[in-house]
Amino acid sequence: MNLEQEFYNVFKSAPTLSYKAPARINLIGEHIDYNGGRVLPCAISSYIRAFVSKRDDDIISAHSLNIRTTHSIHLSQIQYDKENDWCNYVFGIFYVLRQMGYSIPHGLNILINSEIPVGSGLSSSAALLVLICYIANDIYDLKINLKNIAKIAVKCENEFCGLKCGIMDEAAIALGLRNKCLLLDCSKFEYEYIDLDLGKYAFVVLKTNKPRALVESKYNKRVEECEKGLAILKEHYQIDNLCQLNVEELDNVRKLIKDDIIYKRVKHVISENDRVYEFVRALNKRDMHMLSTLLDASHQSLKEDYEVTGIHLDTIVDAAKAAGALGARMTGAGFGGCAIALIDRSTFIEFKEKVEEYYFQKLNIMPEVFSIDIVDGPSHEYDF
Ligand code: ADP
Ligand code: MG
Repeated sequence: MNLEQEFYNVFKSAPTLSYKAPARINLIGEHIDYNGGRVLPCAISSYIRAFVSKRDDDIISAHSLNIRTTHSIHLSQIQYDKENDWCNYVFGIFYVLRQMGYSIPHGLNILINSEIPVGSGLSSSAALLVLICYIANDIYDLKINLKNIAKIAVKCENEFCGLKCGIMDEAAIALGLRNKCLLLDCSKFEYEYIDLDLGKYAFVVLKTNKPRALVESKYNKRVEECEKGLAILKEHYQIDNLCQLNVEELDNVRKLIKDDIIYKRVKHVISENDRVYEFVRALNKRDMHMLSTLLDASHQSLKEDYEVTGIHLDTIVDAAKAAGALGARMTGAGFGGCAIALIDRSTFIEFKEKVEEYYFQKLNIMPEVFSIDIVDGPSHEYDF
């Protein structure tokens, strides 16, 4: 597809600038961001791109080649559009920026083209939001730093698009650095970079291709269950969140929480938080054996105790292990979407074939397996 030609077909003029933003995976620390824990995401080489030109008027006009629709709106008339959900992710950023007092002196034509699968847990929504905010910052010279670009994108997703979400996705994308992951405290938005130097090993992404269903209601249920667990434990411990307890307390926690389901949820949260720290230690020591053990333990905990995996994610993780992965686990919210596996780079082609065969045989669905690099956050690609 010739994007310049596509741009011309839609806007009857030529693009002048192009930008891109990456997707993200979370290496470990799943479902603990809303429990005061730390997560370990990184930006990956699957991109959403935008071709842009400036307009003389005050109209933002956006076209997505993935959706194949065009929407236009005056900057001063932006409001939530129920019918055309996707354009809220574009217009919403301009709305939030204006609301915050930034001056947006003219409109833009924006053509979007993405290779990030939508609704598969690689955060296509955060990538789009961060991309648009990055573009606005660059073109209008707003002098917003990357951390605040992430915050504005989250504000837009929460307040304009109406989706409750934490800062992990936007932070991982906006602050991505090549061959580093982000040890991120979501409650305070504090972070540090950890080297992801894996030598001959690499992470790969495994997409289950399961259509997503009921993710939001199941997600909210888990949030509620954790709140119940916390309320019980607060009567015995001086804590504000579950991640303030460490694994040594689990025996005692078992005695305090009578409800088996609530106990299992809390057990996942406390043990997963511990695994994040162990994982960082293992990364620093380049201890592949420990990294693999932790990936497997994380998946097991999400499967047995937190119950957010499901047949598709479990099967693809089994497939990865059978195909020779050192370790594998689901990534993102679960209930479908993607998993990650740690493999020896040189075995990729064979690994991919084996995973496809195993998964297809069990579920009659073809999965996707792709190699990735750990990459920088958003960038201005070129001027035409
Ligand atoms: P994900 O896990 O991929 O972030 P979400 O449901 O959070 O899934 O976000 C997906 C939504 O983001 C889409 O329904 C659409 O509104 C928007 N979106 C993502 N990528 C694109 C794109 N390439 N073009 C238009 N809209 C997109
Ligand atoms: Mg999303």
